[in-house]
Amino acid sequence: MCRRWYGCQRSIRKIPKLKAISEFKIIEKYLSNIGTSFNKKNKVLIGVGDDASVISLSKNLIVSTDTSLEGVHFPKGIKPEYAAYRACVTALSDLAAMGSHPLAFQLSLSTRENNHKFFSSFKKGLNDFSNDYKIGLTGGDLVRGQYQISVTVIGKQHSKILLRNNCSVGDIVFLSDQLGNGLLGMQNFKKFRRKNNVSSAYLKPKALINYGKTIAEFASSAIDVSDGFLQDLGHLSKASKVGFELSSSSIPYNSNLSLKQCLNCGDDYQLIFTVPKKNIQSLTKKMKKNKFKMFEVGTSIQTKKIFLDGKITSINMGYKHF
Ligand code: ADP
Ligand code: MG
Repeated sequence: MCRRWYGCQRSIRKIPKLKAISEFKIIEKYLSNIGTSFNKKNKVLIGVGDDASVISLSKNLIVSTDTSLEGVHFPKGIKPEYAAYRACVTALSDLAAMGSHPLAFQLSLSTRENNHKFFSSFKKGLNDFSNDYKIGLTGGDLVRGQYQISVTVIGKQHSKILLRNNCSVGDIVFLSDQLGNGLLGMQNFKKFRRKNNVSSAYLKPKALINYGKTIAEFASSAIDVSDGFLQDLGHLSKASKVGFELSSSSIPYNSNLSLKQCLNCGDDYQLIFTVPKKNIQSLTKKMKKNKFKMFEVGTSIQTKKIFLDGKITSINMGYKHF
């Protein structure tokens, strides 16, 4: 953490119209009371304010961290509200893919802003996220630097823990819903610079927590689509040491885009999961009861390659940082 920034006159002069606030005021006013009402139910004994948070647990802990960088994961000029919300959901999506139940989240924020306007909007995003998923912000860090939001999500095991490495040959591959809404939403936001029916899929994506918990006891493996359907299916293939045979006509995607775009774009946060044939009937029944969609898109095979309509696909087209 940084105690030097807020005394730095240069940063205050750069934004003369906005009143600068100190680090401890920011934490107190904007980061201390996010979702604290959910802490009791989630057995969070100590949240923001001490050197670390304390959570009481009887089941396995499931933890994941994701960092969102300005210019990479969210565009310059996006409202802090949406930057914050998106960063939290992208982190939480990993808990959905594990079939787990969220308990709390931690936030490490790096920014050059230290004014009420920025932090009021940022807080709105955190509060909306906290209310949507019923978890509190239990701690974090605040430093001055390049705008970057790192979120750690903490969850517990719900039923079975869904891993990437447990798919067997013959299991059926499912996708939770249509691909491409995230990409189309981002394109729309870049054009109109505001939230509407289309851009909301990008600005306020959803983590499929209840969906993940529902499939957990029936599925053999799962992954969330963060970097592109084919790339993420490639991770399942590698971890489970199986291949996949897909039929393009069964893959749901946004018809304003091409199938190729939708197979390779990130930001959708749909779940890909595999199910042993013997579990399909009971899963289908449970999904119907919960009004959850699921689309059968292929089968897992012994050859460790991904075939789309009989042709080997390149899985190297999704987003990669290095
Ligand atoms: P320390 O010096 O012990 O690391 P800090 O001064 O960084 O503590 O933080 C004080 C308290 O504020 C801690 O409880 C910490 O978890 C919390 N905190 C700091 N930054 C954030 C943040 N971005 N979001 C939520 N809580 C934060
Ligand atoms: Mg300390």
